[in-house]
Amino acid sequence: MSPIVRFAPSPTGRLHVGNVRTALMNQLFARRHGGTFILRVDDTDLERSKAEYEIAIETDLAWLGFTIDNKHKQSDRFDLYEAAAARLREQGLLYACYETEDELDRKRKIQRAQGQPPVYDRASLKLTDEQREAYEAEGRKPYWRFKLSHERVEWDDLVRGASQVDTASVSDPILIRADGSFLYTLPSCVDDAEMGITHVVRGEDHVTNSGAQIEVFRALGAEPPAFAHTPLLVGADGDKLSKRLGSLAVADFREAGIEPMALSSLLAKIGTSDAIEVRTELETLADEFDFAKIGRAPARFDEAELSRLNAQLLRETDFDAVAERLGALNVGGGAAFWKMARENITTLDDAAKWWRIVEGPIEPQIEDESFAGAAAELVPDGPYDAGTWGAFTAAVKEKTGAKGKALFAPLRLALTGASRGPEMAPLFALIGPEKARARLKGEAA
Ligand code: GLU
Repeated sequence: MSPIVRFAPSPTGRLHVGNVRTALMNQLFARRHGGTFILRVDDTDLERSKAEYEIAIETDLAWLGFTIDNKHKQSDRFDLYEAAAARLREQGLLYACYETEDELDRKRKIQRAQGQPPVYDRASLKLTDEQREAYEAEGRKPYWRFKLSHERVEWDDLVRGASQVDTASVSDPILIRADGSFLYTLPSCVDDAEMGITHVVRGEDHVTNSGAQIEVFRALGAEPPAFAHTPLLVGADGDKLSKRLGSLAVADFREAGIEPMALSSLLAKIGTSDAIEVRTELETLADEFDFAKIGRAPARFDEAELSRLNAQLLRETDFDAVAERLGALNVGGGAAFWKMARENITTLDDAAKWWRIVEGPIEPQIEDESFAGAAAELVPDGPYDAGTWGAFTAAVKEKTGAKGKALFAPLRLALTGASRGPEMAPLFALIGPEKARARLKGEAA
């Protein structure tokens, strides 16, 4: 049976790395088993959901190269949710509640003071018809809670193993607000059942929800899907990632020059038994994907590691794959330049920096004018090839007696204006005789 999975973001903000990891797990699992990946836009909260975020989510997923087989929006499906709510009401599993937020708060405070867990006491379930009418006459509008079984719900989680939620230890979840709008729980179950979702893959923060949702599935006469709850992401030093979520939007990484496969590789490998290495294709990540490899400990997301993978990815990238983007950055030099530059960059933009050095003008840095002047005299005429640098430096060494660092460091400083950079042999060939001579004479060229 090929799996059907869904990624179900709420379009109330930009995707951050935690969301993307969930999307990625779904995408890789679907690809691994020839399944279907559904993008389900959880936009039942009409006030907070924004079209611009929905577009941004799709932009991010497209940038990552994900295949979206199907897309649905919950706001198109309210009829289904109403019908499901009616079925639950008929079974006595959806009951009207009238407590205000303040009243609930007070109850919780008392429970805590008595050392009890702040679980909703089902007072509204016990109301008589007259009491209900009295509340409504006061102008109170009911909201609706699902009546949990108070039994233990068990499932075999694909990541966490044997899992359970004692539904007596949690409050009956509110499914419908007083204004008639649906909270996430019921629509999610209705859609998962109706779309034939076989595996719900999501973050560990949903484990308790799964207990209630399994009961909702059963109440709707649907077989619950399999569940895989992945540990949450934490920062490099183990701190909560959520503190810095604002700065961890996918779009920010894209703008900072991170390649999509560097991000996907990192998010696929952290927290697993695999080594953290870059992969150039989602297909490869998919072939390597297995829930059994995902550990129980939080996965550390380290931006330094992301930079490392990005650099590694660019080193493995052929000129043809980036030619267009280099062109857009006004980087010339063709494949020869790229082959040299890719060894010394973290993002593609860095290549532009090296190209400016080839192209000039740069300010040469010269400490010993007589040494540089002597070297300028020895600059051979073109055309240059990869061997020219060796012949040139040998000649300078013979003439000046300088060797090792004393030979190479001042030449690099004069020719590039920088103390570090790509390999000099190909760089020198690209700089060429005229600029090399001028720079060794201390002229901006
Ligand atoms: N919209 C929910 C969220 O973003 C979906 C959770 C789920 O995958 O069921 O948390």
